[in-house]
Amino acid sequence: PFKQRLLVVANRLPVSAIRRGEELWSLEISAGGLVSALLGVRDVDAKWIGWAGVNVPDEVGQKALTKALAVKRCIPVFLDEEIVHQYYNGYCNNILWPLFHYLGLPQEDRLATTRSFQSQFDAYKRANQMFADVVSQHYEEGDVIWCHDYHLMFLPKCLKEYDSNMKVGWFLHTPFPSSEIHRTLPSRSELLKSVLAADLVGFHTYDYARHFVSACTRILGLEGTPEGVEDQGKLTRVAAFPIGIDSDRFKRALELPTVKEHISELKKRFAGRKVMLGVDRLDMIKGIPQKILAFEKFLEENPLWRDKVVLLQIAVPTRTDVPEYQKLTSQVHEIVGRINGRFGTLTAVPLLHLDRSLDFHALCALYAVTDVALVTSLRDGMNLVSYEFVACQNAKKGVLILSEFAGAAQSLGAGALLVNPWNITEVAASIFQALNMPVEEREKRHRHNYAHVTTHTAQEWAQTFVSELNDTVVEAQLRT
Ligand code: UDP
Repeated sequence: PFKQRLLVVANRLPVSAIRRGEELWSLEISAGGLVSALLGVRDVDAKWIGWAGVNVPDEVGQKALTKALAVKRCIPVFLDEEIVHQYYNGYCNNILWPLFHYLGLPQEDRLATTRSFQSQFDAYKRANQMFADVVSQHYEEGDVIWCHDYHLMFLPKCLKEYDSNMKVGWFLHTPFPSSEIHRTLPSRSELLKSVLAADLVGFHTYDYARHFVSACTRILGLEGTPEGVEDQGKLTRVAAFPIGIDSDRFKRALELPTVKEHISELKKRFAGRKVMLGVDRLDMIKGIPQKILAFEKFLEENPLWRDKVVLLQIAVPTRTDVPEYQKLTSQVHEIVGRINGRFGTLTAVPLLHLDRSLDFHALCALYAVTDVALVTSLRDGMNLVSYEFVACQNAKKGVLILSEFAGAAQSLGAGALLVNPWNITEVAASIFQALNMPVEEREKRHRHNYAHVTTHTAQEWAQTFVSELNDTVVEAQLRT
């Protein structure tokens, strides 16, 4: 049977590579959402193109790594240290990431980077061209090319310059901000135009798609239609494709003996207390200080709850070499210390804050024993933690408190308690409501969320995007 060939291009390959010798590499597949999503897509023959996350300056090492990766259906793009610094740490993480999450362009600490803005943007374009070169070496007529995320906004244009018949889709995993934010970006027009070279442009939510279309109409003066953006008769289709998770993987994990054992240990450990859970990378966008300040207010107002609840915050370290992130870490530690100092007893503290990550099974066990999950992102493309919590809650039917600024609020809004994370009073009241919620209401809310999470899976998401891309190309051919 015919299998659609798919080239998935993302900044990072879904593997970590460690060099064990001159020609010896050991590879570990990271089972993220995107990987399992594509494994589940029927009749598609997918290959990955991306950076392996390591600097390999020598040709012998590059050859050996290319060979090892081929077994995993991965094709490497080799980026040297200087370009990683300028393109990845600089333009992607220091400019685009904060801007797309409404933190604005560099100020104060990051101000120095505004001076190197042009050189970083040049490096960004050069890096995107390097990805395009690798794609073109592996491209065969009829292939679908799916470009991912803010790292590769320049890629659709590079690919179409190489071959205007390529079927090119681009998907953004972060929010796309209001055009008023996007217009502050010095390279605002160039980036929009290069994305528009794609046939299909996808976002998590309808709002992000609408923001993108307004940016194109206001900044580029193009015409926005219900279908997308039109430029002199050429249509770029723009639509919302909310991502999901591989919910079966979580359900299966909960059946494993090791996970079950872990669950009963946790239950013993927290007996007599309700468990509240936060799982976030320690990033400014996650609203961790806001979350624990709201928890502090809740404890202040509800003395009877002080020894009956614990908030477990898993804060996964990220970008630890960046001063702003170091500042956030110490700010969070200070508040945690204060809260435990105020409300702790000789035998217990109300807030357990861990600066670490957990493995998949430990995380599933934690999700399963949680009574209330707290997601307080100030901005978040989707937020998969909220989906994963729901997938693990069929026994407990706990409550999800969810920021209205996470993309997930668009899909889990009917079952979750939605909050504005900036409003500490509202979040504290929601914590009270969640902890006191009658079981019938919890069941009803859980049913809503669970039905959504188990039907709108990652596999379904990938399948929909790829078939929509194929359809878009066919329609475009019919119109000319
Ligand atoms: N995660 C993990 N180990 C941890 C904590 C989190 O593997 O200790 C995973 C979690 O299962 C989820 C992802 O990290 O799939 C976080 O995704 P999300 O969309 O919530 O936020 P992001 O970090 O992508 O901004």
